[in-house]
Amino acid sequence: MNPQIPALHELQHRDRQLISLERKLEAIPTRLKELDEDLARLEAMLANERKKCDDTRAFERSQRALLAEDEDLVRQGKQRANQVKTARELAATQRELESTRKMIAARTEEIGKLQNGVAETEQRIEAMSKALEELRAAAEPERQRLTEMRARVETKLGKLRAGRRSLTSKLDNELLETYERIRKRLGGLAFVAAHRERCMACKMAIPHQIYVLLRKGDEIPACESCGRLLYWSGHFPDDTTAGKGEAAPKEAAPKASPPVRRAIPKDE
Ligand SMILES: [Zn+2]
Repeated sequence: MNPQIPALHELQHRDRQLISLERKLEAIPTRLKELDEDLARLEAMLANERKKCDDTRAFERSQRALLAEDEDLVRQGKQRANQVKTARELAATQRELESTRKMIAARTEEIGKLQNGVAETEQRIEAMSKALEELRAAAEPERQRLTEMRARVETKLGKLRAGRRSLTSKLDNELLETYERIRKRLGGLAFVAAHRERCMACKMAIPHQIYVLLRKGDEIPACESCGRLLYWSGHFPDDTTAGKGEAAPKEAAPKASPPVRRAIPKDE
């Protein structure tokens, strides 16, 4: 087998690990930010409820002050009623008293509603404070876990990158450039298995002559559909990323005079 094939296979294997670790690393700041945002949202909601509660209490106080004034008016009205000289004056004072009493009843009812509102808001505040406390308690170990994970992933990445450098030095420059170009363009996967005459990345059929070349293992052809570099899955039977069920020995002897088949794209 062309020694570049196992070297490139190993490189792709490591690059898969590299990509998965890089994604893991990228997700950490996002998760940390989400934690902070969750806390900030709950804190803002709580502050809003507290403000509402304070406002309701202030309004209740003003209503109580007005109620006290109305009660004074009733006391004064009663005194006046005792001092009036005429029936007309008495009737007028009593009408005034009646309307003030109605006002007092309405205001008392309003104050009751405000008190209920305050009690409800206080309950909400209590529940929210508890939730916030719990969230804060959970956020701390989560933050620590993520920070530790970041350190671990960074160490692993450092090792992988160093290993990658020693591996790429073994590869032919032109081949490496092609590999890197495809990797950049197609999101990480540049050297893929061909299995049962199909590219395992794009699932398109591979022309039979090219498949024969792949099995011989001298050349590194590209998939005509997706452009990725190909290897025959039978060369790496332990490779879990390649297709299954095609054993190497069975495929070792190519069939005589294979018919030329065109790649017919089916569905992608
Ligand atoms: Zn392909």
